[in-house]
Order: sequence, then structure tokens, then C-alpha cells
Amino acid sequence: MYALEQKILAEGIVLSEEVLKVDSFLNHQIDPVMMQQVGQEFARLFKDAGITKIITIEASGIAPAVMAGLELGVPVIFARKYQSLTLKDDLYRSKVFSFTKQIESTIAISKKHINATDKVLVIDDFLANGQAALGLADLIHQAEATVVGIGIVIEKSFQPGREFLIDKGYRVESLARVKSLANGTVEFVRD
Ligand code: 5GP
Repeated sequence: MYALEQKILAEGIVLSEEVLKVDSFLNHQIDPVMMQQVGQEFARLFKDAGITKIITIEASGIAPAVMAGLELGVPVIFARKYQSLTLKDDLYRSKVFSFTKQIESTIAISKKHINATDKVLVIDDFLANGQAALGLADLIHQAEATVVGIGIVIEKSFQPGREFLIDKGYRVESLARVKSLANGTVEFVRD
């Protein structure tokens, strides 16, 4: 997605050879116009897939997921990273190892928001090793619903997440594919 790549080139900060910071439009401050375009692109890619729900993970997946939900006309569920006081219902839970925090945490959603007839699109901000997406897919499988695909805003293609998820049979669509963060520079995959 050209506009997203240009945004990353203009505003992305390469923190290390493995980590990209995009706090000006996705991970802290949010650019609603950019997120709307992201949502439209996810909707274009998945419009014929019969999606009934979108699932993401708090907090940074919420903006792109909501915009995609608006375009596709479906509800958006965000998995909570901890069992909050208000989340007392029957829960589906999964364990996720966080790439950025290097800790394992439990993510959860209420059972009432997803059922076996749902066709669910997983959306997340970044793809590194695929653990967040796998945890979300696990919640969907626990509900006996179908994972239609995985939509990623920024994939780091030099890390194993994409291949890992494709090997598990998932359709992965990434709007920007970063080939390298070497020498403080963002380089994209060109097909
Ligand atoms: P994975 O689960 O695929 O290993 O990592 C994806 C998750 O880690 C995303 O939900 C995202 O929050 C975080 N993440 C991974 N790599 C980066 C990165 O380079 N920059 C930022 N800002 N977050 C990242």
C-alpha cells in the first residue's frame, strides 16, 4: 500500500534492526485519515470472504480494526491482555508471548461475542513472529468459528511470522512489508 509505505518512510523511527516505531500515526498518536485508508484496503482485500466479525488485540490493533469494521460493516472485538474487573464473563483465553515486551501474557475475550457460525478476520498492527495473531486465531478456534484470514498493517518480512502463519494454513495479507531495518533505514519487499 503506497500511502502507508510513504508514511512509514516519512515518520517511522528505526529503533534497532528488529524494531520500528510508528508512534506518530499508529502506536500512540493515531492518524485517522491514514487509518481510514488502511481500513479501506483491508475491506478491499477481504470483501468477498463473507466476514462476520473482526478480532484484534488491545491497544494498537484497535484503530485499524475499527476502520476495517466500518468499511466491511461488521463488529470489532478486541482481546484484552489481562482479566480486567469488568471482564468477568465466561472467557476464551490464550497465552501470547509478546515480541516487544518479551513476556508471556494471557489474552481473553468474552464467549458471548463470538460463536461457531462466525467467519472472523484477525487484524493486528505488526507481524514479527506471529504469536499475537496465533493467539487470536486460537480464541476463534475455541469458539469453533472460522479464521478467514489475518490482516497486518506492517509486516516485518525478515522475521518468521508470515511463513509461520501461512504454514498453519492461514491467509495473510500485509499492507506494508518491511524487508529490512538495517543501517537505520526502512526497505520494503518488492514483488
Ligand atoms: P508477534 O506476535 O508477531 O511476534 O509480534 C507482533 C506484536 O508485537 C504486535 O501486536 C505489536 O504490538 C508488537 N510488535 C512487534 N514488532 C513490532 C515493532 O517493530 N514495532 C512495534 N511498534 N510493535 C511491534
